[in-house]
Amino acid sequence: MVLIQKCEDYNIDVIRDLIDQSFKEFNIYDKLDSSKKVFIKLNLVGPFEKEKGITTHPVILQAVLDLILPITKNVIVGDNPAIRDQIPTLKKCGLYDTIKNANVEILEGTDFTTITNSNPKIYSKFEVSRQMIDCDLLINLPKIKTHSLTYMTCAEKNFFGLIYGLNKSAWHTKASNPLEFGEALNDLYGALLESFKNKTLFHIADGIIGLEGEGPSSGGKAKHANCIISSTDAVSIDRVAVELVHLDYEKLYVNKIANDRGYGEGDINKIEIKGNPLSDFDDIHFLAPKDSLGSTGIKFLRHKFVRNMLLEHPQIDINKCIKCGQCATICPVKTMQIEKGKYPHLKSNICIRCWCCAEVCPQSAIYKSKRPLLGRIILKSKN
Ligand code: SF4
Ligand code: SF4
Repeated sequence: MVLIQKCEDYNIDVIRDLIDQSFKEFNIYDKLDSSKKVFIKLNLVGPFEKEKGITTHPVILQAVLDLILPITKNVIVGDNPAIRDQIPTLKKCGLYDTIKNANVEILEGTDFTTITNSNPKIYSKFEVSRQMIDCDLLINLPKIKTHSLTYMTCAEKNFFGLIYGLNKSAWHTKASNPLEFGEALNDLYGALLESFKNKTLFHIADGIIGLEGEGPSSGGKAKHANCIISSTDAVSIDRVAVELVHLDYEKLYVNKIANDRGYGEGDINKIEIKGNPLSDFDDIHFLAPKDSLGSTGIKFLRHKFVRNMLLEHPQIDINKCIKCGQCATICPVKTMQIEKGKYPHLKSNICIRCWCCAEVCPQSAIYKSKRPLLGRIILKSKN
């Protein structure tokens, strides 16, 4: 079951009321008492202002804290940002004061535990932040955003942040083609589901202001989807979100894999929708990431040399670049390089097209080159 609630701005009283209704609908209060531990998982991809629609909005966090803290004080909040430390990132995103004023603990992200998927496709073990797992209720607060690699990111993909900092980009090297990465994300999600077999996962996806185009960070554009979507099933939320913003479900391969594996319900006709019907959002249309491919195209790109021949690569806009070097730091195969005082450049053609560089760039200075002619011809029918 998924609850869709129409909401057009970040008014704390309205949002607190909507999330209270959502907690009641999904019996979340019944699972809580003063002895229970709650972890609130933010989407903290990087240090971006809340108006950009990239990170969890402070008002959503405030509303959740207002409702949970009177029941239990055992609450920890946080995420593992891609590259920067958490505290400056929380400050830039406008979340730090909300957390401090509520007097709750912030995630100590370097303390790991290992979670296991007993029936993985590729990977069975994942080192993740211990505090995110050692809780009775994990409340996931993703944004509804497009994503250059995975087409969209919402509830399920937000759990990639269980993995600490640069270890995340290492996963892009291990699972370097998009399909393999989708399987690895689902291996991780399956391990999380096993860890929470007798505990509760709850997801509140914020699309009041989401992100369209070259997401999931500064390359995308903030866009109103005017909704909050909640559920205990991340797969259903993501399936409903792609429908609500009128993007192409056929390209949401992470969700299709999850549905095929039985990790949740991805068939829109089988998902019970409560609250506002999808027809209330007929006017919401998000722009897809440029040149996104469907499942056939993605299967075609399994091999690195094929991707190199057919796909666009990162380019630097020197009018926007401030030479901070974050793109080079995160690049998992070290093909993005920077020398002191110079602009970054691609050293060779071993780029795996993970788009981590664009994700961490604070200036939106990394863009996709034009797709090579061969790629345009061959991939035309596979979009
Ligand atoms: S250059 Fe960018 S897209 Fe290419 S491998 Fe490095 S981080 Fe990934
Ligand atoms: S492209 Fe972006 S991340 Fe890379 S050095 Fe320039 S501003 Fe920094």
